[in-house]
Amino acid sequence: MRYEHEFIVVGAGNGGLSAACRLAGAGRDVVVLEKHNLPGGVATSFVRGRFEFEASLHELCDVGTPEDPGSVRRLFAALGSKERFINEKNLFRAIVTGKDGYDVTLPAGRKEFRRALLDVCPGCEKSLDRLVGLLDNTTEALRYNDKNGGKPNRLIMLLKYGKFLISASHSLDEVLRSLGFSLRERSILETYWSYLGVPADELNAFHYLEMFKGYLEHGAGIPLEKSYGLSLSLCDSLLRRGGSIRYNTEVTGFIYDGDKRVIGVRAGDDEYYAKHVISNVIPNNVFRMSGKHNVPEKDRRLINARRLGMSFICIYLGLDATPDELGIRDYTVFISHRQSSRRQYSDETEMGLYVVNCLNKAVDGATPDGTCSLFITVPVVSGKLIGDVSPYNYTKFKQDIAKKYIADYESVLGIGIKDHIEEISVATPATFASYFGSPNGTAYGYELSGWDGVMARILNKDNELRIKGLSFCGGHTSSGDGFSVSYVSGAEAADAAMAQIGGGDDGK
Ligand SMILES: Cc1cc2nc3c(=O)[nH]c(=O)nc-3n(C[C@H](O)[C@H](O)[C@H](O)COP(=O)(O)OP(=O)(O)OC[C@H]3O[C@@H](n4cnc5c(N)ncnc54)[C@H](O)[C@@H]3O)c2cc1C
Repeated sequence: MRYEHEFIVVGAGNGGLSAACRLAGAGRDVVVLEKHNLPGGVATSFVRGRFEFEASLHELCDVGTPEDPGSVRRLFAALGSKERFINEKNLFRAIVTGKDGYDVTLPAGRKEFRRALLDVCPGCEKSLDRLVGLLDNTTEALRYNDKNGGKPNRLIMLLKYGKFLISASHSLDEVLRSLGFSLRERSILETYWSYLGVPADELNAFHYLEMFKGYLEHGAGIPLEKSYGLSLSLCDSLLRRGGSIRYNTEVTGFIYDGDKRVIGVRAGDDEYYAKHVISNVIPNNVFRMSGKHNVPEKDRRLINARRLGMSFICIYLGLDATPDELGIRDYTVFISHRQSSRRQYSDETEMGLYVVNCLNKAVDGATPDGTCSLFITVPVVSGKLIGDVSPYNYTKFKQDIAKKYIADYESVLGIGIKDHIEEISVATPATFASYFGSPNGTAYGYELSGWDGVMARILNKDNELRIKGLSFCGGHTSSGDGFSVSYVSGAEAADAAMAQIGGGDDGK
């Protein structure tokens, strides 16, 4: 069959849904093509026994409060979503074992955070003051930059926003050292490195500090109905606005005209034509479906040169006791046996850093009465699973990993969970690769490090992946991974596409 629409969005992940909602809200004719029978991509949940498990989300950054909404609340309101968020007031508990280790719980809110950090790291007041000065200078610099449409006066930038410029051109570790923080203090402040997938000595300081500020001001954002609730809410809004979604529709080819412009996509025997296509699917896969001669050489080289972002091993546990009965007191705990993020960023075999979430500590009634769930997330940074992952041994591989991390969690926290496991499920990069088809099962697009850091991407944004009739949205685009940024990238891609093809109002 042949179908015609004004816009096609390929993939109903966060970026795709947000792009489609924006287009439909502007009265544009849009169809989303999704290969699965469910929306959301990573933003989904699954059921085992009496438990519905959150598949991915730990927390959203920059949600803000109803009184002082951050980018996510504002965007969801603009997209017509009715989903509700709560703000988890404890940022995290971070435990590093060993003689130089620590066990610290840091709350949201500037004053509260300062008090808690000074309790465990007395004497770092001056460094903290300088850090706060840098956060404020960054906020003002960004405001000034936005006011000037992204084309600020260079002299003013140098004179007024020098601190911001320095942080934007150095690694997080360099900046924290220059502010006078000790190794232990840096280790605590750098705990969130795993959310960006790059160790602190390679991670752009501005990128990290922007995210950090998003959490610090109002705490972590958590949707009341899990990340799947966010996906359903966006779908609902899309349909109410006149857009449509076709499930079980895997795009298998991108159709180009003689001028190398994308004019549609192929899904099995069907062809869908449009004025513009927005892909929520990673460029590697789009290029594979495009035919070599249609993709500019420089874009192919760029994509080949980029490092794929990290993936995860996830252990989902449904427990037959409440957090109080088990002695679980935190929503988020980061655990490591090493202090520096460079050493925490290591092969799974060496046990770097891992995160454990108990959703019941943030959302009442997250699991059936008398139960709770734990979500253990282990970054896989090498792009490979280490060990025998042959089909014959795969189940044992997963069992061994689960045993290892459960035992470690029990010994570090002094909490017994093994005898309370009612349901268990283990996902690996192979699971994510088979669900999304993403290379190496990357859930994080391309790693934002070195020459491909966030500043380089922002500055080069208008020069890359400029294929006529096609744009990209999602965790693999210029701002990088994460729920918040993938939603924003979708809305931005929709705005840019509408501006390109003209017609209609922009409906923001
Ligand atoms: C375990 C885990 C934990 C995470 N935790 C957090 C967190 O706490 N906070 C945070 O901010 N971020 C987190 N992330 C990252 C975040 O989930 C992602 O950055 C974000 O969801 C990516 O969204 P996306 O728009 O790129 O879409 P994706 O989720 O990548 O969705 C792409 C969609 O395209 C579809 N698709 C693929 N190929 C085709 C095709 N050929 N035809 C049609 N459809 C296709 C897929 O089925 C999918 O629905 C986590 C990720 C994982 C895996």
